[in-house]
Amino acid sequence: MAADASAPVVTVAVTCRLDSRSHAVPDTELTRTAAADTGRYQAICGHVVSPASLVAPDGKPCDACSVAAPPGGGKTRRRRRPA
Ligand SMILES: [Zn+2]
Repeated sequence: MAADASAPVVTVAVTCRLDSRSHAVPDTELTRTAAADTGRYQAICGHVVSPASLVAPDGKPCDACSVAAPPGGGKTRRRRRPA
């Protein structure tokens, strides 16, 4: 499926255990087979995220991702934890 440049990018906040920052990762990246195999995902800022433990608290939002994300454009949904 080709990405439509006019479509808003849906990103998911993923905390990297290397820099403890919460990066915006496109959901298309999260479902990419190659990324799933390595467990590493490229955020919109270009940082390759090595996801922290699911029980770890969210890190501070990455400044570069905040800049890269269009304000009010893309939707960001928080990673949800099981209750
Ligand atoms: Zn980032």
